Amino acid sequence: MEPRHDMGTGGNCICPKCETLMEHRRGIPCQDEKCPKCGAKMLREGSYHHELLMAKRAKKK
Ligand SMILES: [Zn+2]
Repeated sequence: MEPRHDMGTGGNCICPKCETLMEHRRGIPCQDEKCPKCGAKMLREGSYHHELLMAKRAKKK
């Protein structure tokens, strides 16, 4: 195992469009997964990109 991308095992991928959650599969980056509902690229929940998205959402209020 390479130490890069070590965010632990487990966790979820989340769809930035419809917020569908799916279990993160080991060895497959969330960005390589597609949302089962809308086909968008998934994000790793809690990742930098996910946090950016959440920050954007929070500001929109
Ligand atoms: Zn989706």
